[in-house]
Amino acid sequence: MKQIHIAGGGLAGCEAAWQVARAGGRAVLYEMRPLRQTPAHKTGDLAELVCSNSLKSEQANSAPWLLKEELRRLGSLLIGEISPRARVPAGHALTVDREIFAAEITRAMEADPAIEIRREEVTTLDANHVWIIASGPLTSDALAQEIARITGSNRLYFYDSISPIIDAESIDTSIAFRASRYGKSLDGTADYLNCPFDKVQYDAFLDALLAAESVPAHIEEDRPGPENVRYFEACLPIEEIARRGRDTLRFGPMKPMGLTDPRTGRRPYAVVQLRQEDARAGSYNLVGFQNHMRFGDQQRVLRLIPGLEHAEFLRFGQVHRNTYINGPALLTPTLQMRTRPEVFFAGQISGVEGYVESIATGLIAGRGAVALAGGQVPRAFPRGTAMGSLAAYVSGADPLHYQPANITFDLLPKLENPPRDKKTRYAEVCRRALDALEEYLCAHV
Ligand SMILES: Cc1cc2nc3c(=O)[nH]c(=O)nc-3n(C[C@H](O)[C@H](O)[C@H](O)COP(=O)(O)OP(=O)(O)OC[C@H]3O[C@@H](n4cnc5c(N)ncnc54)[C@H](O)[C@@H]3O)c2cc1C
Repeated sequence: MKQIHIAGGGLAGCEAAWQVARAGGRAVLYEMRPLRQTPAHKTGDLAELVCSNSLKSEQANSAPWLLKEELRRLGSLLIGEISPRARVPAGHALTVDREIFAAEITRAMEADPAIEIRREEVTTLDANHVWIIASGPLTSDALAQEIARITGSNRLYFYDSISPIIDAESIDTSIAFRASRYGKSLDGTADYLNCPFDKVQYDAFLDALLAAESVPAHIEEDRPGPENVRYFEACLPIEEIARRGRDTLRFGPMKPMGLTDPRTGRRPYAVVQLRQEDARAGSYNLVGFQNHMRFGDQQRVLRLIPGLEHAEFLRFGQVHRNTYINGPALLTPTLQMRTRPEVFFAGQISGVEGYVESIATGLIAGRGAVALAGGQVPRAFPRGTAMGSLAAYVSGADPLHYQPANITFDLLPKLENPPRDKKTRYAEVCRRALDALEEYLCAHV
């Protein structure tokens, strides 16, 4: 069997290497640290957590729990074995001691005879190898250039500018109205929900936005300032746009042109447009509303938008440095490149967001790569599972509006007869996912 070459010994790379070894394959794991550091990592350990030490909720029947539960059932090293040993008390969240976590994973990698660790920077991708690219959001420049060469430079991004996503059921549709600008729609239906502002509402919203607190930047490149203006011009956070003048938002992402509020028969003073995404069931994206606000402030300020007074947030906006590819334009649900099936992507660079999501895609790529190297066809996870839904989003969302995703219930398929009560509904989605996973495991032992 061919060796699997893994670029990057972070969360995704280590989980991938472990999966390769457990399936009887051999992995070469390349990690450039400590010889070459990233702007966020501090140590030479593998699988270093660069910021928070939380692997999110362990509350049964939540989406982050479901993903972790599936990973445990699939024999994940990082979630199933190491996290419980490194766990520190933190209520319902799975929170770990970052030093123990990284040290234990490093030891597990070093002790495994089927894993060879090479402390070197990958700069080219030998076309004769099976590769898993797991070099993370801070991929080195040389490798980023090589990835751009094989994917096309217009499919590789260096900055994440994520707008918030809200639960469709929490939108007040007696205020938000359905319409496309100038009545122009791609498919004959009105594509957007529009939240209309009058002047008083706009002024109140702007004041709250300008007073909101920003998330402190983790790395120098993420700090707004003259040297970083180049980044921010491409994906300016709304609070930065607001600082440029009281009307700047009204002439930018909140422009009301071509829209008439059916309640007043007039053009609103400003609007926020909400777009439903095909790949996400029952949720809406606030178009152009990427922002840097603390999550608490974000919720408070965005609930001032008419129609969103009771909005439930499935994801908050973010703006930060992130190297990632346009997965839907490039990948299959097994995370292989469509044009070069021997190249897999995993972790943040594949277009997911978050520690556990990176681990999950590492597991998918590791299993797929070892199958391919053994002459088999890699198999996608069932669509009804959180693993399968994450991979389906990364490979099948709309490539034109692609934004990296955390696991949330709106990525999973809708139930046919959904119970009205949300708790019961989510419990049912989780039960269906775990049943589908068990079936898959029985069929593919
Ligand atoms: C500053 C910052 C803070 C974040 N905070 C959080 C958070 O609090 N919670 C959360 O859930 N997510 C967070 N994320 C997002 C993401 O979950 C983490 O970055 C996560 O570590 C991604 O896992 P990964 O395996 O894809 O990448 P990483 O864990 O970063 O691993 C990639 C590895 O590849 C190595 N590498 C890079 N280039 C090369 C090369 N050419 N050759 C060899 N090795 C290379 C790197 O040194 C690194 O060790 C954050 C991201 C950033 C940038």
